[in-house]
Amino acid sequence: MENSPIKAPTMTLTSGPVAIYPRVQEALSRPVPYDYDPYFQDFYEQVSLKAGKAMRSDKPAIILHAEPAVAIEAAAASLISAQDTVLNLASGVYGKGFGYWAARYCKRLTEVEVAYNEAIDPEQVAEALRANPDVTIVSTVHHDTPSGTLNPVNEIGEVVKAHGALHLVDAVSSFAGMDIHPIDCAADIFITGPGKCLGGSPGLSVLDVSEAAWAHMEGNETSPRASVLSLLDWKDAWRKENAFPFTPSVAEVQGLDAALDQYLEEGPEAVWRRHDLTARACRAGIKAMGLELWPARESIAAPSTTAVTIPGDLTTKQIHSAARQTYGVTLSAGRHETYDKLIRIGHMGPVAEPIYAIAAVAVFGAAVRQHGIAADVGAGVEAAMAEIPNGT
Ligand SMILES: *Cc1c(COP(=O)(O)O)cnc(C)c1O
Repeated sequence: MENSPIKAPTMTLTSGPVAIYPRVQEALSRPVPYDYDPYFQDFYEQVSLKAGKAMRSDKPAIILHAEPAVAIEAAAASLISAQDTVLNLASGVYGKGFGYWAARYCKRLTEVEVAYNEAIDPEQVAEALRANPDVTIVSTVHHDTPSGTLNPVNEIGEVVKAHGALHLVDAVSSFAGMDIHPIDCAADIFITGPGKCLGGSPGLSVLDVSEAAWAHMEGNETSPRASVLSLLDWKDAWRKENAFPFTPSVAEVQGLDAALDQYLEEGPEAVWRRHDLTARACRAGIKAMGLELWPARESIAAPSTTAVTIPGDLTTKQIHSAARQTYGVTLSAGRHETYDKLIRIGHMGPVAEPIYAIAAVAVFGAAVRQHGIAADVGAGVEAAMAEIPNGT
């Protein structure tokens, strides 16, 4: 890095990986204990309990030692059998993507799909379940990050439970940025990770798994064992007297612990409030510059990501390089279907502070202006600032 000709960014305002808290950085630099040393075994149990507490679960969390994309694939492989019919809800790239994994394992896949700037209506889910009474598993992405949109996952959870199906929820980029917990959305498998709103580094997954989901996996003859895709292998790994199926990512677990301490000590409600405030200030600024938000309605815009429609015929590259080269600010692009349609400003972890919204609005406006699009940066900054209550 020291010898790289490219200067490191001054500010990282992305939708994951994100800028991490200083205490996470400190934790990642600690000595790496042996995984079977009693110190680490006790520590692992404590972190699993702490992560469970952060999710307001009555169980210790299951930690997988890879990015949540792996946990989502592992959940599909472990849970879904050739007897299952899966209803997959797709309002964006991650939702659609889960369907591809589900299709590999299930008897039949059916989907509710909406435009990628829209949200799933719980009534559509109820309708799909009436039309497909054999559905045993429903999968929902809470915040489909490449769209910056939220699905009403708690209401969807109620519909899923009324039907008697299992609910698989991807809350990777919403948990710890807003009020969302496994119990609220009736999740049987709830997947998150440290690398988004918790302000930690990417590389682990944190899951809450219900008894019903474990029972379903145990009854699934094709649920993998001795595999990185096995959830069952990690079921009891949190208990210090139990063996790890393979070496856990020791340094990452220390980083996760620090991210959880940050969240719980600051207080979840306070953390959610600053995510919400930052996103509101950012949206107000973007609109006041005469630019357009990607979500069809602000009521479905996520508090952890502001997706802005790319104006005119500009490209992602043009906006990114103007922001990065002139101001040293890194923003996120769209992905797959949303690539070159929108730019994402992340408000996750330590940068979920309103001052970063002001910076993002100014930089975004200046970047599109460099390419000939009119944007009233002054009005944008004023509007963003107007959202921020005066301190005393
Ligand atoms: C970040 C994220 C994941 C994890 O996927 P990666 O491709 O490993 O980053 C999963 N689901 C959602 C909604 C995410 O935002």
